[in-house]
Amino acid sequence: MSKYIFVTGGVVSSVGKGITVASIGTILKSRQISVSVQKLDPYLNVDPGTMSPYQHGEVFVTKDGAETDLDLGNYERFIDINLTAESNVTSGQIYSAVIAKERHGDFLGGTIQVVPHVTSEIKEQFKKLAQKSQAEVVIIEVGGTVGDIEGQPFLEAIRQMRNDVGRENVLFIHVTYLPYLTSTQELKTKPTQHSVNELRRIGIQPDIIVCRSDYPISEGIRNKISLFCDVERQAVIPLPTVSTIYEVPLVLEEEELGQLVIDELGLKASQSDLSQWHEMVTCLKEPCEPVNIALVGKYVELKDAYYSVREALQHSALYHRRSLNLEWVHSEELEKDYGEELLSSAQGIIVPGGFGVRGIEGMVKAANYARNNKIPYFGLCLGMQVMVIEFARYALNSTKPNSTEFDDSTPYPVIDLLPEQRGTESKGGTMRLGDYPCQLVPGSRAAQAYGQSLVNERHRHRYEFNNEFCDILSEAGMVYSGLSPDGRLVELCELVDHPWMVSCQFHPEFGSRPGRPHPLFRDFVNVAKDMLREGAQPPLPFSP
Ligand code: GLN
Repeated sequence: MSKYIFVTGGVVSSVGKGITVASIGTILKSRQISVSVQKLDPYLNVDPGTMSPYQHGEVFVTKDGAETDLDLGNYERFIDINLTAESNVTSGQIYSAVIAKERHGDFLGGTIQVVPHVTSEIKEQFKKLAQKSQAEVVIIEVGGTVGDIEGQPFLEAIRQMRNDVGRENVLFIHVTYLPYLTSTQELKTKPTQHSVNELRRIGIQPDIIVCRSDYPISEGIRNKISLFCDVERQAVIPLPTVSTIYEVPLVLEEEELGQLVIDELGLKASQSDLSQWHEMVTCLKEPCEPVNIALVGKYVELKDAYYSVREALQHSALYHRRSLNLEWVHSEELEKDYGEELLSSAQGIIVPGGFGVRGIEGMVKAANYARNNKIPYFGLCLGMQVMVIEFARYALNSTKPNSTEFDDSTPYPVIDLLPEQRGTESKGGTMRLGDYPCQLVPGSRAAQAYGQSLVNERHRHRYEFNNEFCDILSEAGMVYSGLSPDGRLVELCELVDHPWMVSCQFHPEFGSRPGRPHPLFRDFVNVAKDMLREGAQPPLPFSP
């Protein structure tokens, strides 16, 4: 039977609860303990797929095609596992399931209530993941902050679990924030005390408190939290802000969080081995030559909208021993006169995914700039569609080629809806989602990067390359380097007459791992790092 770790958040959101959960996973896995993870999101949307990136940040897509919270990306990257739809549970899903059961007559005669019906449905989801994953430990992160109205049923459900599966099988970890007062130059514990009180009020006594802080946490502060919150002194774990998220497992391990969890849950564990992780963090922190990558998108004000893309670039930069210098370029800024100057120092240009017409012409301009100036270009999903639009405008010598998503009356619909997408009215969960196979064309840059002939990659889009334009674009120099096995869908394309202009209809960023960059990202950064741009000095010849 699986054991459960429930992680709640106190004081404020965005203090790194997701990274803490992912790091606990890393720590346990380093001791050969199998783990799975689940994120509980208290909002009423069924999934984040229909939310604006400004509201929610990136939508992370699992291999089985679930549109999920971006924390799942961190869980996958830190623990090196592939999660499934069961790993993200929202209030929307819970209420839909309960109401469907009620309509079906499953509760005939009963009044449907939050306790026990909603809470039972939530607990079902915990057990479903435990069952499916067969993990020794299931870590469950409760989204939001203790005290939120929406989160109450989830907290009640996790409280009940202690009785349901036995005290020895459940651990509560509370992640809080210690604010610093400049006037008195001290860290304050009161908000933490209040959030623990709030947890206790509903019957949850945390076993471990992880304290995020921008300043060092003294022994005195630790003792105080231990006393007031009634947790053992060694169970108050300081987590000061660190320069890279990948350092968090090391900080927590240093504070012996791993041993504490093992003792509390009575787990059988091997000796911890985080040596590779240590090596990676040491490399990340070492100063090295930068590689300048321009990320052109329309949501760049909110960096979280491109979370996995940034991480995938980071993994590749690390692989090539470069420090990633990411320049966030707003595609609408590029649309202005001389906008392309924003790209003058970029050694590589990446155009990630997105929806809707706003900022599209700026992205087309970026693709045009990359093609004409032979700057490495990597298009992800929308980035591929933009590359095709730009190339078609050149090949057909017309400004008209477009995607029907942005201009439904274009005479050259080079990107169009698939016939099976046409009748689809409903917006939620109806895109081409999750893993699909892709056959690589031997000799292409894509095939070279992967070093294999068939790959599976995650998708999230409605529009596709329109095969009517295959021949005309191929005559002008476009290669279709990856196709669906039936040859019907273009999954990858690249240009012959260019150092590296490669795009894919899928989202490779979701599959990249810290020690194992995605092959396309790896090769893109490899070519980019050797580009000399404005202001850069060629390396001086070595003189002994
Ligand atoms: N808007 C485009 C489509 O639906 C691209 C989607 C994306 O980039 N994820 O096909």
